[in-house]
Amino acid sequence: MEQTHVPHVLFLPFPAQGHIKPMLNLAELLSHEGFQVTFVNSDHNHDRLLHNIDISSFYNRFPKFQFRSIPDGLTPDHPRFGLYVIDLLCSTRAVSKPAFRELLISLKEEKGPFQLPTCIIADGIMCFAIDVAEEFEIPTITFRTFSAHCLWTYFHLSKLIEEGEVPFPDENLEKPISCIPGLENVLRRRDLPGICRFEKADDPVLQFFVKETSAFTRASGLILNTFNEIEAPMITRLGSFFNKIYPIGPLHALKSRINDNSSSSTSSNGNLWKEDKKCLKWLDSQPSKSVLYVSFGSVIKLTREQILEFWHGLINCGNSFLWVLRSDLIVGDASFGHLLMKLERDTKERGLIVSWAPQEHVLLHPAIGGFFTHSGWNSTLESIVAGVPMICWPKTGDQQVNSRCVSDVWNIGFDMKDICDRSMVEKLVRELMDNRRDQFMASSDKLSRLACDSIKEGGSSCINLEKLIQDIKSMSS
Ligand code: UDP
Repeated sequence: MEQTHVPHVLFLPFPAQGHIKPMLNLAELLSHEGFQVTFVNSDHNHDRLLHNIDISSFYNRFPKFQFRSIPDGLTPDHPRFGLYVIDLLCSTRAVSKPAFRELLISLKEEKGPFQLPTCIIADGIMCFAIDVAEEFEIPTITFRTFSAHCLWTYFHLSKLIEEGEVPFPDENLEKPISCIPGLENVLRRRDLPGICRFEKADDPVLQFFVKETSAFTRASGLILNTFNEIEAPMITRLGSFFNKIYPIGPLHALKSRINDNSSSSTSSNGNLWKEDKKCLKWLDSQPSKSVLYVSFGSVIKLTREQILEFWHGLINCGNSFLWVLRSDLIVGDASFGHLLMKLERDTKERGLIVSWAPQEHVLLHPAIGGFFTHSGWNSTLESIVAGVPMICWPKTGDQQVNSRCVSDVWNIGFDMKDICDRSMVEKLVRELMDNRRDQFMASSDKLSRLACDSIKEGGSSCINLEKLIQDIKSMSS
């Protein structure tokens, strides 16, 4: 008779907040199913993440879970993102790859429960994991933390370069892009992923993503943090590259289902920054749907001028706002402390500034009426689940594609890309929160219901998660 063992799944996220959080949500869901789970962070993020988890309660709740870490090859004070992201991309290959191999060797030799994994779930931009997994004959499933729309666009990077669309041959950013099937009437040049704005086709970051996108199709399946009801046409098209696709999002909402009966302190929040929870109390004192939440995610940087344009726009529009200003948000941080003090003082009447918010809770708070966002995919999904319409100001990565979908595919907000101007902020906030509020609330409510239905028993994402669980179990037979 065939013997089944408890599967052991090893997760390897790209070392960034927006990648760690959804992958950790899935890791906890699989651990809840009784799987052994090893979650591998970079040393740099390992300490930051564990600092924000009540680790003994966490291990009590998930006794078959372990965190491990490997180096990313950069010094602790290296900026890692923005202009320096190429250093991180290169060092994950040069330093993390051999360290990952060493980790697998050590697991192979281990006598306890965490032996060689049954399956590796590797981030779609950590494809070195597939090479290493092949050496150990371990199947890999890839997890791409982008929307399906953006991922489909990435699969056309080579074509965009071949056809002379990228790098942009002239300054006309309004030109429609016609060579991506299914998105002909959606994308203009300005809506292409941030990496398409490089000036040279052989730019190392652009080339990294061209190569990595073709490499990760070697995985035996693709996990996406999305749901069929919102992106079915793109998910179907991605089926030309993968035999199996598991759209199992929104994962934060799916995970909150298993948290229903336990205290939230026994779960992780996947945060690398410490949450400032006082803003929830402040929100309690605000009228329903009166507050605009403002956050630009974990990675992007702003100039002093950009921050001031946004701030003046927010003050002039007359609405209350809650604004996340990360300590590392500003480019060249020498004068950030002074600027922050001034903004905090001058904002008191109208709003609150925090350095890191409990975003999922904030978006679900009844006082929130809109989200001024950079359109990272996690933030977009969290806003969709909460039924909160958006004003999008994307800057890089997948954000340009996501914001276009928000405004022109799903009709749940405005896309303000490439404009940083106080009068535009003021105008769009008034439109979103007042003049066109009913229209946006109606479409946001509808999408929120679809998202919530997808994670219920019998919903599409719930069924796909079950398929993923069964497929991993069959690997351990
Ligand atoms: N986030 C948070 N508090 C904040 C700002 C962001 O918890 O003050 C979380 C947010 O909920 C989301 C993640 O950080 O899950 C950011 O991921 P996203 O994909 O939106 O953007 P990125 O940071 O990758 O650009």
